Amino acid sequence: MSVAENTGLTVAVIGTGYVGLTTGACFAKLGHTVICADVIPEKIESLSRGEVPIVEAGMEELVAEGIASGRLRFVLGAANAAEECDFAFMCLPTPQGADGAADLSYLLRAASEIAPVLPSGAIVVNKSTVPVGSAQRVVDVIGRDDVVVASNPEFLREGTSVEDFFGPDRIVIGAPEKAVAERVSRLYDAIDAPKLLVDTATAELIKYASNAYLAAKISYANSIANLCEAAGANAHEVLAGMGMDSRIGAKFLKPGPGWGGSCFPKDVFALMNIAETAGYDFSLLSAVVAANEEQLDRVVGKVRQIVGGELAGAKLAVWGLSFKAGTDDMRESPAIKVITRLQAAGVHIRAYDPAATVPLPGVARAETALDACDGADGLVVLTEWPEFGEVSLSDVAERLAYKRVVDTRNMLNTRELADLGFAYDCVGYGKSVVSHSLA
Ligand code: NAD
Repeated sequence: MSVAENTGLTVAVIGTGYVGLTTGACFAKLGHTVICADVIPEKIESLSRGEVPIVEAGMEELVAEGIASGRLRFVLGAANAAEECDFAFMCLPTPQGADGAADLSYLLRAASEIAPVLPSGAIVVNKSTVPVGSAQRVVDVIGRDDVVVASNPEFLREGTSVEDFFGPDRIVIGAPEKAVAERVSRLYDAIDAPKLLVDTATAELIKYASNAYLAAKISYANSIANLCEAAGANAHEVLAGMGMDSRIGAKFLKPGPGWGGSCFPKDVFALMNIAETAGYDFSLLSAVVAANEEQLDRVVGKVRQIVGGELAGAKLAVWGLSFKAGTDDMRESPAIKVITRLQAAGVHIRAYDPAATVPLPGVARAETALDACDGADGLVVLTEWPEFGEVSLSDVAERLAYKRVVDTRNMLNTRELADLGFAYDCVGYGKSVVSHSLA
């Protein structure tokens, strides 16, 4: 995409995490003047120097370009970003609260910070994932008749956030009046995607309904994979066969250790809470949550079996800590949940991840995938980083004390593992299938 003309529109972005930084850097690329705010001084300092604190393809170039064009700035404190804005995009965390509902305290605090300085006529846009009725709560906190609040939920995927911003499947904008939604929509004029202009409650619910559906789809794939193990079928082929049906689609049909990440778990619980508050018993979602817990337990069961039944005292190599490949984000990662369960059973872990570097209690870290294997009683693959599929399995065999692998992402070559004399397990293959049909 070439450098755009200056649009003359000024956007404040409050919160410069995964969503805020993407929104800010990409809006600057579209020609808007963007001022991003955060509460962490070091983050603002490093971003102002063009140093990007997260792993996102294309982000460094975009931030550097935005700064060089003079259209992207970073400031400390929400109020300092909002003074001259036409739009204030709220990209604050909405973590799971004690009752499962989304915790709106970050959002409402930031709203109270910008309330006194917002120019008359500004539009506050909730990009955070927030429950039905949140726009009204922001309206109440702002307490001004000359400012409106709209909703523009974000659907980006970590790791490909820049690509997703410029090529989304749809852009959803909720507002109390169509004219307000249309003003927000104009910010995205250069993006060729369907724009769905709806009322605010509908926009808020579209986001939760989508994320919970994707979590349910993964859990369905995992349940089919578990059935394949029991029935002696090949999950890879069953799920591929399902995915060829255009009504179903192939995405999110890969079996694995379970779903996680910074969004799915909290959004599923928040949707359950929204349903409960609305008086609807969303029992399907309770089953999805239970299936996901069961999946994590099944992985631990597979590891127990591969080491001969006794986990206590075992030394295991782990490949992968981030919740999926392509990101350094370990929040609610299924890998961490499996590790925690293994540690509780007395396992010593030495882990390698190409990007996720945050220290974990009791987990030793290795510099390379092979180093993690040195002298270990077995290897557990938990995140689908492509580089894991390229490690020489004969080198792995040499480094491990025992040739044992549990591959929860089905990415290692099972024929080669078999030829090298590994005891191995993966997800979704009946025992007879494992030995002959995977390659
Ligand atoms: P994040 O935790 O990465 O970033 C939030 C940022 O807000 C942090 O840098 C924090 O310091 C900052 N912040 C907190 N209080 C502030 C304040 N008063 N003023 C200014 N900055 C403040 O969060 P995220 O992953 O970007 O998610 C933000 C929202 O977007 C959440 O509601 C999330 O559910 C939703 N969302 C996330 C993703 C994703 O993949 N991460 C995708 C779609 C939607």
